Amino acid sequence: MTTIAFIGLGNMGLPMSQNLLKAGFAVRGFDLSDSARAAFAGAGGQPFTSVAEAVADADAVITMLPNGAIVKDVYEGADGVFANAKAGALMIDSSTIDVATAREVCSAAVGKGFEMVDAPVSGGVGGAAAGTLAFMVGGTEAAFARAEPILQPMAGKIVHCGASGNGQAAKVCNNMLLAISMIGVSEAFNLGRALGLDDQVFFDVAANASGQCWSLTTYCPVPGPVPASPANRDYKPGFATALMLKDLKLAMQAVADTGANTPMGTRAAEIYTAMDGNGHGGVDFSGVIKHLTGEI
Ligand code: NAD
Repeated sequence: MTTIAFIGLGNMGLPMSQNLLKAGFAVRGFDLSDSARAAFAGAGGQPFTSVAEAVADADAVITMLPNGAIVKDVYEGADGVFANAKAGALMIDSSTIDVATAREVCSAAVGKGFEMVDAPVSGGVGGAAAGTLAFMVGGTEAAFARAEPILQPMAGKIVHCGASGNGQAAKVCNNMLLAISMIGVSEAFNLGRALGLDDQVFFDVAANASGQCWSLTTYCPVPGPVPASPANRDYKPGFATALMLKDLKLAMQAVADTGANTPMGTRAAEIYTAMDGNGHGGVDFSGVIKHLTGEI
């Protein structure tokens, strides 16, 4: 039986590890938080009190951690994954982190004789619980082939995006596009209202015309046309503004590193920074429609 060490048992990691347990993997877990380890034990996982103990006997290590600095420390630190994992173990980082750090940690893994992929996800806590996450994977063909069957029980879709770091690249580019499209849809509704256009009428037109996009037809920022969208429950997330801003900051870091010209992405990052700065980081990111009118 394949044994997996899962490090970072938070909002995403805990339900992801549960789906691996349900699929019959032996899962060893570590998190700094006592309550996270207790919840993991309650779900049938085997908790440990250090990275070293959790990874010692594992065939694969999965990390689901808050940011790049923590990921780097967990892998490369003196008591970290590289120093304690067994020879040949596969490393999978599913955290959302910057492309440069993802490539750096992967190259350190290769230097220690391990294979590693970056495999960030979209789909949120709901997708993690349902086992329907979209994984965007960066790494060699060989590493991807080893990672795929391990990701399967947690996934609705798994895409190999190319070499190391390309999973994170796909994730930041997609989320930058999402931020821009949500602001665009919101601006169109706001202008339509100012011109006396009914929300549902504009939705019916744009949803069947060239303005059609996910931000309009699946996640509509006004109440009514798409009953399941957060606009219908006072913009309770969903996908919180603070999380969108985290991803936009990673996109802007990549823009600074590459010199790519992204005027709309840059403006979207400014708008979500202002919304977060006004104390609305916990509001769903589609609440930007109210930020644009000055309501929040
Ligand atoms: P979270 O804060 O709920 O979980 C992170 C966990 O990591 C916490 O339990 C924390 O105690 C643990 N941790 C921190 N430092 C650690 C260390 N050194 N060793 C072991 N454990 C440590 O965050 P989350 O929502 O589960 O997100 C995890 C990652 O997934 C982030 O990179 C996030 O951007 C990404 N992500 C989140 C969502 C979402 O909707 N929540 C969606 C897609 C991607």
